[in-house]
Amino acid sequence: MTALVWYRNDLRVHDHQALAAAVASRQPVRALYLLCPGQWEAHQVAPLRRWYVLSSLGELGEALAVRGIALDLIDCGDFAGVPQALADYCRRHQVSQLFCTREYPLNELRRDRAVADVLSGLGIALQGFDDSVLVPPRALKTGQGTPYTVFTPYRRRWQQYLDEQPPAPPAPPRKRQAVAFPGDDSLRKAQALLDIPASLQAHWPPGEAAARRRLQGFVREGLAGYKTQRDFPAQPGTSLLSAALSAGTLSAKRCYVMARQAMARDAEMGEGASVWIGELAWRDFYRQIMANFPRLAWGDPFREETRWLQWQRDEKRFQAWCEGRTGYPLVDAAMRQLNQTGWMHNRLRMVTAMFLTKHLFIDWRWGEAYFMRQLLDGDFAANNGGWQWSASTGTDAAPYFRVFSPIRQSERFDPDGVFIKQYVPELRALTGKALHQPWVAPMLAPDYPAPIVRHEGVRERVTAAFQQARDMAAQLGTPHP
Ligand SMILES: Cc1cc2nc3c(=O)[nH]c(=O)nc-3n(C[C@H](O)[C@H](O)[C@H](O)COP(=O)(O)OP(=O)(O)OC[C@H]3O[C@@H](n4cnc5c(N)ncnc54)[C@H](O)[C@@H]3O)c2cc1C
Repeated sequence: MTALVWYRNDLRVHDHQALAAAVASRQPVRALYLLCPGQWEAHQVAPLRRWYVLSSLGELGEALAVRGIALDLIDCGDFAGVPQALADYCRRHQVSQLFCTREYPLNELRRDRAVADVLSGLGIALQGFDDSVLVPPRALKTGQGTPYTVFTPYRRRWQQYLDEQPPAPPAPPRKRQAVAFPGDDSLRKAQALLDIPASLQAHWPPGEAAARRRLQGFVREGLAGYKTQRDFPAQPGTSLLSAALSAGTLSAKRCYVMARQAMARDAEMGEGASVWIGELAWRDFYRQIMANFPRLAWGDPFREETRWLQWQRDEKRFQAWCEGRTGYPLVDAAMRQLNQTGWMHNRLRMVTAMFLTKHLFIDWRWGEAYFMRQLLDGDFAANNGGWQWSASTGTDAAPYFRVFSPIRQSERFDPDGVFIKQYVPELRALTGKALHQPWVAPMLAPDYPAPIVRHEGVRERVTAAFQQARDMAAQLGTPHP
């Protein structure tokens, strides 16, 4: 009989509970990845992210092969094809136990329920592990027995849980008689079809080894200064590990353990490490929100009264935002960073998302989908959480009357315009006030667009729109999603 590890967004051999459990079962172990290109289409997964996953799979196949574990790749179209493909595979290889890392978005939960039904009919045990998070999404409850919906008390309880049960990521299986990894050719063909420029491929090295190296480099050079550097997009102040964490080439547990060890070794790391660990808590927070409120997966806002908001359906302005032509330098530089590199700095994700939802009053779901189509690290829970935070429709979100000024954000977080000039070359000649508000000196940047909306009056308009939504909800109840 065989133990099977079903890989999804956990493409690594280190710190992998499902793999460790399969090896501990003392049966021959195989591994399987089911390609679902139709699901990638339906979930609007960015080509760059698809490339990252396929490339990481190549490395995973080699890493498993030298440990005597064959990784098979099967194309099963989309999630609907998964139960049958797995059942056929299990019969062919006499699988008695299947191990995997749990996933929480709704389509993934439905897929896994269908798989569990089919496998139980075949007498195959399915064991899932909450290994993509530090704290399982249903482990923490408020005093009322409900899921946490406010971050600060969640974070406190989350830390307490981890202090009581420190994560102990398992070691990878030992190397042994190598087996073949037959999938290499098909992966190469699929990668070539995506046509990702070589410069971008070099910018985002895929796979577990590169992710582990990046983590080590960040802990050594970036962690101590994280608290003070992380808000400045021109600085290399954050870890750039989001793609690795969302595809699982790196585990959140490894990140946590390394940050804690650095804190214990070096008191100077303290504040930086603690703030960075807070970001890992945000990641868990949004995953537990997604797991406990599955309605979010069909586009429902967390705050139900905001279903009444009357968003502008302005395709032209939306396109200007997408292309980085809003006339606001920081917003445009950020959108161009996203379009050119597949990644955007966290502060700028907030600035651009607020600009779309507050200044242009365009539906956050349009922005959420656009980000997903571009992001290397596109992650349903974090992206949805970030968008609903910015739009003030989410759990523990920015209050609706809080509107970032794109001018003030630009002056504070890119005062000399180093970041802006990197992505908006039309503004290279500008300095001082004109850099952040080019409309005051239009003759110095003739190719740069005039602002598509005025900042003045935005807060009042947004306040009125939220008030109207609340009034409608009070009179008529909340509409069905
Ligand atoms: C509108 C919006 C959309 C977002 N979309 C995504 C997304 O699709 N995928 C994604 O991974 N993150 C998303 N984020 C969160 C955050 O912007 C990125 O995780 C971060 O910029 C990644 O860079 P880093 O790896 O250098 O982060 P670091 O600052 O080094 O943080 C370490 C890790 O913590 C996690 N993290 C950090 N901030 C957050 C956060 N606010 N919420 C959840 N997890 C966080 C990430 O896994 C990140 O890699 C979004 C935020 C906003 C405001």
